[in-house]
Amino acid sequence: MNYRHAYHAGNFADVLKHAVLAHIVAYLKRKPQPFRVIDTHAGTGVYDLGAEEAQKTGEWRDGIGRILADAPPSDVAEILAPYLEVVRNENRRDESGNEAIVRYPGSPLIARRLLRPDDKLVVNEAHPEDGARLKTLFNKDRAVKALALDGWMALKSLLPPPERRGVVLIDPPFEEAGEFHRLVEALTEAHRRFATGTVVVWYPIKDPRRVRAFHRDAAALSIPKLLVAELCVRPPLSEGSLAGTGLLTLNPPFTLEAALTTLLPYLVRTLGQARDADSRLEWLTGERTASA
Ligand code: SAM
Repeated sequence: MNYRHAYHAGNFADVLKHAVLAHIVAYLKRKPQPFRVIDTHAGTGVYDLGAEEAQKTGEWRDGIGRILADAPPSDVAEILAPYLEVVRNENRRDESGNEAIVRYPGSPLIARRLLRPDDKLVVNEAHPEDGARLKTLFNKDRAVKALALDGWMALKSLLPPPERRGVVLIDPPFEEAGEFHRLVEALTEAHRRFATGTVVVWYPIKDPRRVRAFHRDAAALSIPKLLVAELCVRPPLSEGSLAGTGLLTLNPPFTLEAALTTLLPYLVRTLGQARDADSRLEWLTGERTASA
């Protein structure tokens, strides 16, 4: 296990993923019944952007850095509010009143900050060092269970959640061959065990043919309601650097499609690194076809 999210925290992929996660959690809070957030590949939970790893790549500067430096239109600001509120609350303004971002919350901390007293969070991280940090972060927090299992196996034992409401985030590092295939298996398993739950899976966009094959495999499962959202900050040319980020959401809240129709073009404008940066919003199965 070589992947460490500390090098990538707050990058353009995190912005889309965390904005969507926060939107879904905020949606779940519309009903009084408690829910559970399950994060199978959780990372350390929070990242020091001044640390060597984040400084080395500087990826956050072209992600959350650009977002915080911008003043989004009010419709976009409203969509980003649950996410940006958590990010801002982890940071302080400097003496001149400027927003200085030094600490970036990962998916576990974003979810935790949005929970109500009866909601629960389960976070799982298999890297021994990162898993230990995650455990420390939530030490003595009774709303959070921190595990150090294989995320693919953990998924099976964690579903369905006792609350029968919630969201699962599956965010693997894609450092091993076969992770697209594992995502398809995970979607099947999640749908079988928790058919009404919302499941968000993350995938990288490097090789468009590989992504198309993944979409074909996922669509062939005949699972209803699979929504694809993609942001490419530059055109994907070949296997190599991360050109884009994708989320496939099973059972998205009905508000997510409209939110992404507004959000994705804004993210293309703000996070694009080339003139032909682009986005895509499409139902793989179920509902109607949208585009952004
Ligand atoms: N979800 C986090 C966030 O948004 O803040 C980022 C997670 S990062 C993309 C993927 C994480 O999965 C890494 O921290 C890595 O150590 C962990 N990981 C790798 N293989 C795993 C496995 N089989 N089970 C659980 N975690 C794993």
